[in-house]
Amino acid sequence: MVGAGQAAVQLCLALRKEKFDGPVTVFSEENQYPYHRPPLSKSYLLGKDDSSKLPMRPESFYAAKNVAMRLNEKITRVDPASRTVFSEAGEYHYDHLLLATGARPRPLPINGSDLSGVCELRDVDHANAIAQGLRTAKSVVIIGAGFIGLEVASAARAMGKEVTVLDMADRVMARAVAPQVSTWFEQTHRAAGIDIRLGQRVTAIHGVDGAVAEVELPDGSRMEAQLVIIGVGVIPNTGLAEQAGLACDNGIVVNEFCRTSDEAIFAAGDCANHPNPFAGGRAVRLESIQNATDQARVVAAGVAGNSKPYNSVPWFWSDQGAHSLQMTGLSFDADNHVIRGNMDSGVFSVFHFKSEKLLAVDSINMPRDHMLARKLLTAGISPAQEQVEDPGFELKSLI
Ligand SMILES: Cc1cc2nc3c(=O)[nH]c(=O)nc-3n(C[C@H](O)[C@H](O)[C@H](O)COP(=O)(O)OP(=O)(O)OC[C@H]3O[C@@H](n4cnc5c(N)ncnc54)[C@H](O)[C@@H]3O)c2cc1C
Repeated sequence: MVGAGQAAVQLCLALRKEKFDGPVTVFSEENQYPYHRPPLSKSYLLGKDDSSKLPMRPESFYAAKNVAMRLNEKITRVDPASRTVFSEAGEYHYDHLLLATGARPRPLPINGSDLSGVCELRDVDHANAIAQGLRTAKSVVIIGAGFIGLEVASAARAMGKEVTVLDMADRVMARAVAPQVSTWFEQTHRAAGIDIRLGQRVTAIHGVDGAVAEVELPDGSRMEAQLVIIGVGVIPNTGLAEQAGLACDNGIVVNEFCRTSDEAIFAAGDCANHPNPFAGGRAVRLESIQNATDQARVVAAGVAGNSKPYNSVPWFWSDQGAHSLQMTGLSFDADNHVIRGNMDSGVFSVFHFKSEKLLAVDSINMPRDHMLARKLLTAGISPAQEQVEDPGFELKSLI
């Protein structure tokens, strides 16, 4: 396996469950055992979790599963013809290869983005840099009102910082949630004291003595910042796959069995562009723990000769301050959004339909709806709009 993130660790587990007993080697360019990324923008920044809580598994797990974990060893080339991967330290033959290379933060090509105090967030070193910046910063500017930007904004605000979130889009989390959910979170974050400015493209970041000091907007106005976090999305790590001649298009292209254009090579997780039945079979790239975990299971089945297609219902969560957002399904094609619960109470769900068909559900502080929605989507059951709107109607009765 190349990459030791969520997908790779799950594959270690799943291969042994599938009774695959061959040798397994995992290469990681990072120098530590695999760890959970979700806390990095949430509890970890608040100091609620220390680094001892981050590892996905104790070190003994890998030995127990007979997995050779090669940390700090970046794979620099794959040769599909000879089924060999290369690093600076050596070359290694494979029968099956998983590319689980994840994604990296999208850079913001503006002046000043390399100043000290301008951070991105993908790994634990980034999180440590942000945590350190938060100790002394008075004003924090976050560029990008996506999940990571808003989670970090909530953590910074909870620490008493002056927080501004800037985004080019006209609503927060615009790519992922219903307009009603964006509006609710905008109001909620503003009420908590976060200054959210939409339709704003940052033009430059200015520093004093190499350290960030101000962020500039198109009208020439500047806002003070001792810490800037750029959270404008990620780019899938496809370099190895491209160099190996594998098909790539917004990620490494795989089929429903997570196989790439080379039969012996799989890809899974954030780097994989896959046909998703919940997007009508269209190719999508999902960046979620669920996707990485479930795709790894599909890979394990394929390696063990029990191939099964990937057809798991997508789900994702984002904790922003005291509020929990849980999403399931894929809502891109929705033409109708129906509310269940009371938005003013902060406990509600938005059901996304295309005509009568349920496509996705965003739940705010409503874990019960989220779990039911996952079951409905898995079973292919669409409630009627009136049933969704009726708080007295038990959705559970449909399952
Ligand atoms: C701050 C943060 C918060 C998140 N919060 C949530 C959340 O709340 N809910 C949710 O569902 N998801 C969340 N995610 C997304 C989730 O963490 C990812 O979807 C998941 O980690 C993807 O797993 P992966 O195995 O595909 O890739 P990754 O976990 O990114 O692992 C890929 C690994 O491959 C390594 N690698 C790349 N190239 C090479 C190479 N050539 N040689 C060796 N190693 C290499 C990388 O360094 C990396 O360690 C969050 C992500 C971040 C960064």
